[in-house]
Amino acid sequence: MCGIYGYIGINKHDDAAKKVVEGLGRLSYRGYDSWGVAELTDSGILVKKDVGEVPTKKPAGLGASAVAIGHTRWATHGGVTRGNAHPHAASDGSFVLAQNGIVENYVELKAQLKPQFKFKTQTDTEIIVRLLEKEKKSAATLREALRATFLQLEGRNTVIVLADDGTMVTARNGSPLVVGRGAKGALYFSSDTLSFAGEVSEVLVVENGQMVEWNGSDLTVYALDTGEAVPLKFEKLTVVAQKADKAGYDHFMLKEIHESPDVLSQVVAQDLVGMKELARVIDTARTVYTLGSGTAGIASAQIAYYLRKIGKVNTISLIGAEAQSYYDLFGPGDVILAPSQSGETADVLEVLELAQEKGVQIATYVNMSGSMMTRMADFPFMAGAGPEFCVMSTKVFTSQIAWGYLLAKLIAGEHTEGTEVLAATRKALRAYLEDPKATVQLKKLAKKLVPASSIFLLGKSQNMEIIKEGMVKMIEGSYNHAHGIPAGDLKHYAITLMETGVPVIVAISNDEARTDSISAGIEVQSRGATVIGIGQGSVAAFNEFIELPDTGETAAIVNVVALQLLAYYMTVELGNNVDKPRNIAKSVTVK
Ligand code: GLU
Repeated sequence: MCGIYGYIGINKHDDAAKKVVEGLGRLSYRGYDSWGVAELTDSGILVKKDVGEVPTKKPAGLGASAVAIGHTRWATHGGVTRGNAHPHAASDGSFVLAQNGIVENYVELKAQLKPQFKFKTQTDTEIIVRLLEKEKKSAATLREALRATFLQLEGRNTVIVLADDGTMVTARNGSPLVVGRGAKGALYFSSDTLSFAGEVSEVLVVENGQMVEWNGSDLTVYALDTGEAVPLKFEKLTVVAQKADKAGYDHFMLKEIHESPDVLSQVVAQDLVGMKELARVIDTARTVYTLGSGTAGIASAQIAYYLRKIGKVNTISLIGAEAQSYYDLFGPGDVILAPSQSGETADVLEVLELAQEKGVQIATYVNMSGSMMTRMADFPFMAGAGPEFCVMSTKVFTSQIAWGYLLAKLIAGEHTEGTEVLAATRKALRAYLEDPKATVQLKKLAKKLVPASSIFLLGKSQNMEIIKEGMVKMIEGSYNHAHGIPAGDLKHYAITLMETGVPVIVAISNDEARTDSISAGIEVQSRGATVIGIGQGSVAAFNEFIELPDTGETAAIVNVVALQLLAYYMTVELGNNVDKPRNIAKSVTVK
């Protein structure tokens, strides 16, 4: 998480601070707890920072300068305060530093540094600053000092340093960093390429274990381990950032849910040669895993469901943060399928890197181009779902599970049928999303649900993971406590929580799980719960039913879109920040 941005212009008229504020705005999906900008002035480095989201305009107090860096924070260590906001300054003000990552050995390093320095913040970042101050005393250059500092840090980290002599140095070992070259040779540093927003024509992707130095006249890349220079590799920037435009919708979330039918077309248009090659590897694999975190973790479980149920492939789904017990089991012949929105999720990358070392083949399905996951994958698939600006993922989740469905159909020898089903799903979904009666019904339900202290969601088979995703969207957006449980498992424990008026949503389709799912609903209704069915084929016995189009094997895809919409209307009803819910970020690059 966190976004890092830097700019080196030709002269003061380039207004570096303005460029950095704008760049940070485009990176704020990575965290929006606080922001900070540091610019190089004739009288030293000037820092402006505050809590909250990056301002939309250059804040007062910042002048016109040629060079600046900035940061938008997702706090990991130290509260959300102005003092803890980056960039952090050296005691003598000679440099400022911003970090993306976590210094995992910060307790040990702080204990070592405490006798020499007075710490002013609660961040792990300040450890890097003080260590750099210490190393600077004996190093020949700021770069050498940063190298000596960085090699003492444990964890996945990326830092950017601006010194008062105009030197800029970065080091990367984990979180992403790209350098862009724009008009007249202006240089841009950022956590992603999209934030360059058309100002850059060439990019240099900084690899893990590399440093980049701007010494005032030249840009050089160095290997962190040897300290030796390595060749500069700028590539033409092919990805053009799309403008953040709500296209008349109240929120990006609503717009992106409405784009779900389009992402199904993208899935159908996936490169069949690549899909066939992956299907062949899966067919002969020793063990097939799917892997993800958060919403992508739920997508990976749904993909595993499709692979088992339709593809008849024994598939194990893993959560990034909980895969350690499989480490010793990974080996040649295994394959991991990792869906990800950003392709930078630290928990997932850690597992993938280790698995790859052990000979596991990696397939990724990512929405952001140029990501770490895509670059390391043996089979890199791109979702092509278009930018997703809302921090809560909706259309990308839909794309991921639809891709998993089509892959399973391909393995089952039913690819053509799969594409036809997805085309029909697209049509049905479009009609549902455009039906004003559907909107009224969901809005009404949202109103009824928001006062509840707990909302339960039940599902089975194809709807099991889907109700978990509904739960995630409600928790993320409305901050209501929601609890997704396998429909058949509820009676084993959570039935104790059923009392008059407790809302229970049951996702139901016309499939083998229908009878059991209806029974689960009736059982809790008998204990006083208010049961709302959602899905295909209305159940008259329930208190309410949200009837959705029946698309057969892809019914769960339709159901999740309706649950996303319901969570959206709940979020709006409560007046919460829809596109930027509290405490979360879109690209989780820390563990
Ligand atoms: N650990 C740093 C902080 O809490 C950076 C956090 C991040 O990269 O998300 O300020």
